[in-house]
Amino acid sequence: MYPIDETHDPALRSWVGSANAPGADFPVQNLPHGVFRRRASSEPWRGGVAIGDQVLDLAAAHAAGVFHGEAAVAAAHGGAGSLNGLMAMGPRAWLALRRALSALLREGSAQAPRLRACLVPQADAEHAVPARIGDYTDMYTSVHHAINVGRLFRPDNPLTPNFRWMPIGYHGRVSSIGVSGQRFRRPSGQRMPPGAAEPVFGPCERLDYELEIGIWIGPGNPAGEPVPLERAEAHVFGLCLLDDWSARDIQAWEDQPLGPFLAKNFATTISPWIVTMAALAPYRVPWTRPQDDPAPLAYLESEANRAAGGIDLAIEAWIETARMRAEGTGPARLSRSSFRHAYWTVGQMLAHHTVGGCNLQPGDLIGSGTQSGPLPGEQAALIELSEGGRRPVALGNGETRAFLEDGDAVILRGWCEREGFARIGFGECRGEVLPASGD
Ligand code: CA
Repeated sequence: MYPIDETHDPALRSWVGSANAPGADFPVQNLPHGVFRRRASSEPWRGGVAIGDQVLDLAAAHAAGVFHGEAAVAAAHGGAGSLNGLMAMGPRAWLALRRALSALLREGSAQAPRLRACLVPQADAEHAVPARIGDYTDMYTSVHHAINVGRLFRPDNPLTPNFRWMPIGYHGRVSSIGVSGQRFRRPSGQRMPPGAAEPVFGPCERLDYELEIGIWIGPGNPAGEPVPLERAEAHVFGLCLLDDWSARDIQAWEDQPLGPFLAKNFATTISPWIVTMAALAPYRVPWTRPQDDPAPLAYLESEANRAAGGIDLAIEAWIETARMRAEGTGPARLSRSSFRHAYWTVGQMLAHHTVGGCNLQPGDLIGSGTQSGPLPGEQAALIELSEGGRRPVALGNGETRAFLEDGDAVILRGWCEREGFARIGFGECRGEVLPASGD
């Protein structure tokens, strides 16, 4: 767990004026990392830090000589075209860089004139996936999502007996992970129509989004040496938003016995900015579970995890249909929830992932699983909101959706706020559905 220090002081203001605007996602208390270049240019990809509506070009800032000591080494890695090197360095280096950035970007910094030349407007920037992802794992840690979906797939057995004992997951696909702005073709595959004797092949008819948190791994662990829960967060660089696009009809037919395959491997979209665990320190909350649920096994239990393993991270999913774009009405909200409802914490996910000896590597990505909450409107996927497609959701402009249509864009947003601290945001994670290949 990371300390709350002077970098979280809500009174801090930046000489980048837009960072001080009420409701800004990227005040000087945030300082998330990403990889960018000027839009439609052939510039090299390099690392940057979001501040207000600007990107601080970390490679240029490092070249300007404004960093010293451990922060300078971290800034060199943070300015690279992928952030694996920075991720591998670990919490001490990350904190040194965060404290240096906070001092450089706050009001009154003597380096402001030099750093002004290192700013690129976010409106002029495009992003790449911020690290070379070696492996991607998708977890299943919302009990509300598991019960809502389980009822549809297995009415007699909605919550499998293992759910309350361990963080469930499967190993996913890296090649189709794209950064916000990703546009992907509707997948085709096999589905078994209700009552049919044989499957049919064609474009997915039940395409869905899943509102998730992405967890970026920092230093890895050697094979055969599990990461204990007490040290798990030292292996986490930060969080982003993640949309695990899902083909529900393909999933229903292929899912047994080995889990999702083509239902999930065609596209996953992530937000470009990684909010560090240090930035999230003020928004930690206790991890609790209902009294009648089993106590976790020893390797999934710690006092620190009980005290502050959760993160109060507000999350939303919005839809923008082709008609909304044409009529300029703006998107409609589908879901709102909080990561605080997760049944298992980030630390428990890592402890479980490695307990059998699996080695994680810097830049690995873990999806939290769909983060549905307990209340109406907190369902974080259409299959839950529309009750398996039976009750299409009204979008407020006369349109309805049971599942996604071609031309639909889904936009994820996330932010943290707490009395006495700044509000910090995650920016946007946007993906758009194109017609199936051959359509
Ligand atoms: Ca998922």
